[in-house]
Amino acid sequence: MSRTMKAALLYGPRDVRVIDVPKPTIGPWEVLVKVKICMTSGTTVKQYARGYPGRGYPHGFGYEWAGEIVEVGEGVDESLIGKKCISLAPEYACNNCFFCIRGQSNLCAQTGHALDKVRCEVDEPEKGKVSGYFKEYTKEKISELYILPEHLHIDDACQIPYVAYAIHGHRILRINPGDYVACVGAGAMGVIQLILAHLKGAKTIAIDVNEDRLDFAKKVGAADFVIKAKNAHEAKMALKDLNINDGWGPDIVIEAVGLPQTYEEAVELVRRGGQVLLYGGIPEGTKVTFDTYRLHYDEIAIFGSSGVTMEDVIRARNLVEWGIIKPNIFITDRFPLIKIKEALELHLQGKGIKFAIIP
Ligand SMILES: [Zn+2]
Repeated sequence: MSRTMKAALLYGPRDVRVIDVPKPTIGPWEVLVKVKICMTSGTTVKQYARGYPGRGYPHGFGYEWAGEIVEVGEGVDESLIGKKCISLAPEYACNNCFFCIRGQSNLCAQTGHALDKVRCEVDEPEKGKVSGYFKEYTKEKISELYILPEHLHIDDACQIPYVAYAIHGHRILRINPGDYVACVGAGAMGVIQLILAHLKGAKTIAIDVNEDRLDFAKKVGAADFVIKAKNAHEAKMALKDLNINDGWGPDIVIEAVGLPQTYEEAVELVRRGGQVLLYGGIPEGTKVTFDTYRLHYDEIAIFGSSGVTMEDVIRARNLVEWGIIKPNIFITDRFPLIKIKEALELHLQGKGIKFAIIP
């Protein structure tokens, strides 16, 4: 077997190169996994386009993956060779700090926002140390893998962590049957939120500037109504035309873009006494402006959502495993690893929802 493998690394903004690096060697309780699929996502595309704060080049990326175990280390059951797997713990928690013992492991004092730390690790491609999963092989601890049941396809399974992030935000909200739930941003993040809202018996509204995304939200049945709007004013007019809640607006508005403008828009669109979820991530230090009237007199509640707990992951796994959520709908197209730049450019230009990279 060849001792090298192909891996995609970022060397600068929009500079991705597929190079040969040493293949990982495994130790006790570890397994070598052939990566079968790794998705582009909002995060990977942001990283591709403008790098990651505080992180030098080059580095690997790509976080939603699934693979097949091809080699097992000492202490690992050999019958696992050939089994499909994913990593179920996208963020690790210490389980011992102030936050973890209160069930808020996504805020863990030791490893909270762990993905940021993972992303800030220094890669050493010449030694085979490449973070992320846009690569042919990965070395994993067997204890951190989830072996997929036979019926679960890797196209769905690789996106379980992605669904878990949405579930984390969803569980913060109080959505009741008969509510109107609007989502500003109809990319994959927003569409999952709308699918979850449907499961609660809500009527859903997708709001976006991109017509293709709105068509997608409608086509997959996530949105009952779609609104093409460039700003809060246009969205507000359209919601009035639809006579949502007698013109008062949606009970819940979810922001799934991650821009100051759309944060402010979400706060403007929700009805009095409604709830807003700020789900799209924005860099630290960003300021937005709200009319305090909306918070005090209109009694709207604003929530944030960041990361996941293991409970969110297990709930996401169940929904995907039971076939209630089928994340394969988000795969617009597939590209071999060597053509990763093409996929990232398409994603960046909004020409598709997500792309599957097949290493
Ligand atoms: Zn902790």
